[in-house]
This record gives sequence, C-alpha cells and structure tokens, in this order.
Amino acid sequence: MNSQSESSTQRPADETAAIEVKDLTFRWDKHQPALTFPDLRLPQGEHLFLHGPSGTGKSTFLSLLAGMLPPATGSISLLGTAIQKLGAGKRDRFRADHIGVIFQQFNLVPYLTTEANVTLPCRLSRTRKASTGETPASSAHRLLTALAIPESHWQRKVTQLSIGQQQRIAAARALIGAPEIILADEPTSALDSDNRDRFINLLLTLAEERNTSVLFVSHDRSLAQRFHHQIQLGQVPA
Ligand code: ADP
Ligand code: MG
Repeated sequence: MNSQSESSTQRPADETAAIEVKDLTFRWDKHQPALTFPDLRLPQGEHLFLHGPSGTGKSTFLSLLAGMLPPATGSISLLGTAIQKLGAGKRDRFRADHIGVIFQQFNLVPYLTTEANVTLPCRLSRTRKASTGETPASSAHRLLTALAIPESHWQRKVTQLSIGQQQRIAAARALIGAPEIILADEPTSALDSDNRDRFINLLLTLAEERNTSVLFVSHDRSLAQRFHHQIQLGQVPA
C-alpha cells in the first residue's frame, strides 16, 4: 500500500481496497494553508497505524474518510464506493452500514444509557443489526464485558461513567455489528495500560475474525508494532 507507483497499476476487480485515498487536501479556512494527506491504499482486512504530532490533521483525515467533511481536492474510495459522490443521505447510510468510528471526543449520546449508546448503530442500520447474529443487546453485553464495563453500569446514563469508561463505550459502539472499516481516533487516550491492552487485543482479535480493516490514530508509537502498516502525517503547516 501507500506507494505512488501502485496507483497507476491495473488491479483485478476482486481486489477492492477498504480505503483508497488520492491527492486529498482540505481547508478549514480559505486564509490558512491546505492540509495535505498522503495517498494510501489499505487492502481489506489490514490494519494501519497513523501517527503524527498534534495539529497535523489526523482527526481531520478521519472525518474526511468518514465522509463527514468534504475534501477540497482529491478522492476517497471506501470498499469501492467514491463516498464524496454520494448524496448526504446515502453517505450517512453508507457510514452507518460499513464504518465504525471512535471519535476523539467520543460523541456519545448523553441522555442515553450505556447499552443504548452501544446498540445505536443497530437501530440506524439493518445491516449492522443483522451482522450481530444475535440481539443487539446481547451483542452489546458481550462487548461491554470484554471491555470490563461492569453490568451495574449498563443501564446508567453514559454521563455518569468515567472518561475512561466512556471511551470504552465509544469503542463498543464502533465494534457492534462488525462494520468492514473501523476508524479510531486516539481510542486509548483515556485508558490505563490494562484497559488499553484489553481494548487493542479485542479490536485486533475481532478484526482478524471479521476481516475488518482498521485505521488507528495514536501518538503512542509503542502500539505501532501491533499493526500491519504505519504512516506518519507530515509537519504542522506554517
Ligand atoms: P490532529 O488530530 O492531528 O491533532 P486536527 O485534524 O485536529 O489535528 O487539526 C488539524 C488542523 O486543523 C489544526 O491546525 C486545527 O487547528 C485545524 N482544525 C481542526 N478542527 C478545526 C475546526 N473545527 N475548525 C477550524 N480549524 C480546525
Ligand atoms: Mg486529533
């Protein structure tokens, strides 16, 4: 992946990449220099570790990949679909069906319980619901147990949980219903080392079982060795 020459190579149709990005740039503000992103091609089932100093655009990159921001230039293809060519409704559906996102700020729904936050993707997507292979609640319970969230917390509002627990709820919500792509933005930033290791082991075990592609952003480079590939985002623009 991630080589310039590869993009000009003809690939067989059955080798649809999970993520393919070309010539991608984004501007938050027309007076600021554009953020530029490396071309990359992540095959299905492979795991990429993305690191770089704060402010280099890691979170912006994930928002572009999730179809939540429109690129200034370039193209993004997920599972063979050019997401910026979809209308807003179809893009939302595509995200709900195929992508689990762990946001840097979690984006949990504050008035919902732990369990309702985790099962939310199954209410938004029949595909995700069907992929649990059981009820959304029992799938949520398995994920929460694997992430060491005690049963006494499952029916509590998420705002009553600690930050480290909320981050694990966000992780369980991304994993439920086996989306083909997981985008994780500093998903272990609030976790102690036991919970960090528990989460990474669960993520990579489930990803292996389900042939999930993972793009994992972190500044903790000691984690990089767990992933198939790593790239660094460049310098903060002047
Ligand atoms: P990272 O995740 O690598 O720390 P970000 O993607 O959050 O980087 O930010 C990259 C740049 O984009 C920074 O200069 C930041 O100030 C700017 N930026 C991020 N989010 C916004 C926003 N909502 N509005 C304006 N500028 C933003
Ligand atoms: Mg960030």
